[in-house]
Amino acid sequence: MNYRARQAKLLRLLEEQKLDALLVTHLPNVRYLSGFTGSAGVLLAAPRAVFFTDGRYTEQARQQVQGARVTIAKGSPLAVAARQCQGLKRVGYEADTLTVTQFHALQQEMGKGIRLVPASGLVERLRAVKDAGEIEAIRRAVESSSALFRPWLKHFKPGVTETELAARLEFMARKAGAEGMSFPTIVASGERSWLPHGVASPAALPAQGFVVLDYGIVLGGYCSDMTRTVHLGRATAAEQVMYGAVLEAQLAGISAVAPGTTAGEVDLAARKVLQKAKLGRYYTHSTGHGVGLEIHEAPRVGTGSQTVLEPGMVITIEPGAYVPGKGGVRIEDMVLVTATGYEVLTPVGKTLLEVHEN
Ligand code: ZN
Ligand code: ZN
Repeated sequence: MNYRARQAKLLRLLEEQKLDALLVTHLPNVRYLSGFTGSAGVLLAAPRAVFFTDGRYTEQARQQVQGARVTIAKGSPLAVAARQCQGLKRVGYEADTLTVTQFHALQQEMGKGIRLVPASGLVERLRAVKDAGEIEAIRRAVESSSALFRPWLKHFKPGVTETELAARLEFMARKAGAEGMSFPTIVASGERSWLPHGVASPAALPAQGFVVLDYGIVLGGYCSDMTRTVHLGRATAAEQVMYGAVLEAQLAGISAVAPGTTAGEVDLAARKVLQKAKLGRYYTHSTGHGVGLEIHEAPRVGTGSQTVLEPGMVITIEPGAYVPGKGGVRIEDMVLVTATGYEVLTPVGKTLLEVHEN
């Protein structure tokens, strides 16, 4: 990863915002700009960048950090970083993630004469467009997690609990080398399938009905994210129609992905299909989101999103319909925006799978 090139891009954004420096405290942003993967670190992004951490990370920082001088703080790295700002006039801070306590500490350590400017989303804007190394890492995470899907389904039987199924998946993922899961695994069966975010519960799988399966792994620091909905036993005609409508919406969303299109237009393309199928009011969330070092990052793919898609962005397309009393369906792939259109990264099939006891 070319950390110096990323920092150079950030410096141009800081110039636009008339900032002398940015105190980068959000750890995924620190990692993106410097390579540091530990849990305590602050990067003072400036023409002469300085990275601050504490004594636990002396060795790791020396090994990992690129493009910045390393300072080991006695005490709080943030306080030491604040004192380093002497002589600067306008210093940005990451207002979305800095706590109020940290902000007060910053004010105290910096003293008068330095203006603290809220500056959220600058590094996130850069992170939205992935470079070649990141796309490679994301491909590996997507491939590794997708390979788990079919073997996982072998454990699906009436009476098995959702948490046990989640545990099976997570064990297989770790065994295959994943650093962890991108988020708590969703296994939402039976009447829980119409909860759009049904994290695996102690409920046992019923004999009949949809099961929404949404999971991802972290590999090489990068997240994957996919959803498939399978059906336990034979799906009724009405269930097949519902599944077909969600699949059609998902394909319409994918087809709309192209550089120059807004994320809002992609959302609308998927939403329109479900509205036409009279499922619009059961589609209660956004069509997708960016994925990278974090499971949810820029751009948001939702109603009215004005973000213009650019080659290198990686987004999910995941429409769903959740009809109380009937069932819930969601289908999600990760999609790379290319110079000419899109590439679907998730290789798992999407025809409705019925899981039968054997
Ligand atoms: Zn997901
Ligand atoms: Zn997602």
